[in-house]
Amino acid sequence: MKIRKPDSKGNMIVGTTAILIAAVVLMCIVTMTSLNYIQNHNIESQSNDNFKYIIDDYSSNLEILGRESIADVTQKVYNGLPVRDSESDIKKKLTDKLESKNDDFKEKYDVDLSSEVLSVETTDSPWVILFKVRLDGVKDNERFSQVIERNASVEGLRDPLPIAKLTIASGIMAYDDKIHYKTALSAYMLLHNFDSPESYLEATAPMTIKKCPYDPYVHHGDPGVLEDCLDTGYFHESADGSCYLCRLEGKGKCPHYGFEVFIQTHTPLGNESLSCSDHVVFADHYNGQKINPDDWDSLILDSSHRKKYGLSDYGNETY
Ligand SMILES: [Zn+2]
Ligand SMILES: [Zn+2]
Repeated sequence: MKIRKPDSKGNMIVGTTAILIAAVVLMCIVTMTSLNYIQNHNIESQSNDNFKYIIDDYSSNLEILGRESIADVTQKVYNGLPVRDSESDIKKKLTDKLESKNDDFKEKYDVDLSSEVLSVETTDSPWVILFKVRLDGVKDNERFSQVIERNASVEGLRDPLPIAKLTIASGIMAYDDKIHYKTALSAYMLLHNFDSPESYLEATAPMTIKKCPYDPYVHHGDPGVLEDCLDTGYFHESADGSCYLCRLEGKGKCPHYGFEVFIQTHTPLGNESLSCSDHVVFADHYNGQKINPDDWDSLILDSSHRKKYGLSDYGNETY
């Protein structure tokens, strides 16, 4: 019997064909997957485009409702209740408001919305808080999903720090758009053994957050500027001061970019006492001196704050 030798030529043809078929199958799979991906992607972005008017309307509402939610938590502080996690408290308030907004949108646009507040964050600017919300919607069997981001301003809200830090029980009061410390700050300073606590009897500070327009701040040394700044009660950006979210928790200092405000003393005493920037009084605790020893209402400031506000020569010049 003749044994058939393997046909090497035939084997090669079979092998090449198999490789070719495998390659074609692989190419088909890759092409179909990417076509499918592109199609899905198009459907998603197209439907987000179709819902643009709804998403835009929702975003403007988010800005308003975000700010209202912060104000609600500020009110909680002013009611004398402690805020331990301001982000979580604001999230809860906003979630409730968005749920009722979703019902409004059902009536207005006949769309089924569901939303989830992802985060409430500080930003590079201490004057705004960033809100992130995931919004999912269905209308006429079309779906969309988008993360909406909006900044809400804290200007015009009340400063929660003095009350959150010292508590209502301290006797601190808020009226005439001012914080009136009465005996609260002196008692706090006495408790912590700071110098000349009596200097801060009846001290006052602005209540509503207003951004100081005299920027750069060295202009506070120009004639009339400091007087106007104190009359209006402006707040100033400060890397050392605490941000709004941390102020709600009673923190005088935090890792975020924040702001500071002058606590104004009204005393004939010229003793050295805490420098009057609020982050110094509530957290950093270093001394300063009156910038004008003869003025009862003079600010008590340390040298680095004098430099920041251009007040190093204040009181040495005639105005
Ligand atoms: Zn100012
Ligand atoms: Zn902070």
